[in-house]
Amino acid sequence: MYRKDLADRVKTVVIKIGSAVLATPDEGISSERIQRLAAEMASFMARGIKVVLVSSGAIAVGRETMGMSRRIEGIPAKQAAAAVGQPRLMALYDAFFRENSVQVSQILLTRDDLNHRRRYLNARATIETLFKFGALPIINENDTVVVEEIKVGDNDNLSVLVAGLIQADLLVILSDTEGLFDKDPKAHADARLIPRVDEINEAVMCAAGGSCSPTGVGGMSVKLEAIRKAADFGVPTILANGKREGVLSAIFAGEQVGTFFVPKKDPLSCKKQWIAYSVKPTGTVYLDSGAVKALLYGGKSLLPSGVVRTEGTFERGEGVDIRNLSGEVVAKGLANYSAQEIEKISGKQSSRIKKILGYTYGDELIHRDYLVILKSTAKEQNHG
Ligand code: GLU
Repeated sequence: MYRKDLADRVKTVVIKIGSAVLATPDEGISSERIQRLAAEMASFMARGIKVVLVSSGAIAVGRETMGMSRRIEGIPAKQAAAAVGQPRLMALYDAFFRENSVQVSQILLTRDDLNHRRRYLNARATIETLFKFGALPIINENDTVVVEEIKVGDNDNLSVLVAGLIQADLLVILSDTEGLFDKDPKAHADARLIPRVDEINEAVMCAAGGSCSPTGVGGMSVKLEAIRKAADFGVPTILANGKREGVLSAIFAGEQVGTFFVPKKDPLSCKKQWIAYSVKPTGTVYLDSGAVKALLYGGKSLLPSGVVRTEGTFERGEGVDIRNLSGEVVAKGLANYSAQEIEKISGKQSSRIKKILGYTYGDELIHRDYLVILKSTAKEQNHG
């Protein structure tokens, strides 16, 4: 896959703009930059490209507006800053996109929204309808209501989930770094930019170092973890410097800016993406080694006979982690039976389910269509 070919055939793009591009303690809110990026995005929309903007910056803009300290301590203060900053940020986008005749819209999401299949599909339907009206969806996490349990946590991950949701052809992550370097560029003057990454492996993760900017919550390793998910979804990602003038136009012209991350050739299906990365597991099923093998290498459904025990109080239809007896997560899926039911039928043959429970939902505890293998050695099992 080459950048030029990719740039020529992009029809749907998710563009994530990090806080450090929009507002920093040293520079304040950078209206000119927002104006410039808005004009670039509007020009793609005028060419018929569907754009979704995932924008951070609510907390950073709120902090600037309220004159709060450089580092805001405590969740309530951050939520208050976001409550002030989010409408101000939207007002800026509205003003600058209006100059380019683009109507903006706001979508605030939590992890819970993406966790529930119906809300997930609803969010997708809303975005698709906005596309039909030619409006630009601007997405952020709903910072004022999220607590730890329902947080995506950072907009790098949120933008990847959105890219999967709408099956984008490209994800662009704009930060205050030129891209991925072979060493941490803040610590090494001779660090070199890596123009293309074919696979995010351990060596790539190590190269990332710990280059965290004080404004956002991302940092390079968080970005790489997120971009790895995008690659699993089959979405190519370009990480580039949002402060660089004309950066988006250069990317859309197929020029060598930032780092280009090549996607997997055998991506997860849409439903499995949702199970793997949006669904929050509410319990665990522990398997013996034979069942683990059948799952990982046989492409089989999970049957009660291989289950040793469960943990948590999940209901039928909820997400569960599947672990081996050493406690490693090997897969994730949607349970066809509740934890209570599984406790009664674990270790038994499927043919006995009806006799034990008095009813049956089928032979499988988790059907292979609702099961995602997470061990990298067995990724080939994930299609369907
Ligand atoms: N949602 C946060 C905000 O808008 C940003 C999270 C992030 O930086 O990833 O301020």
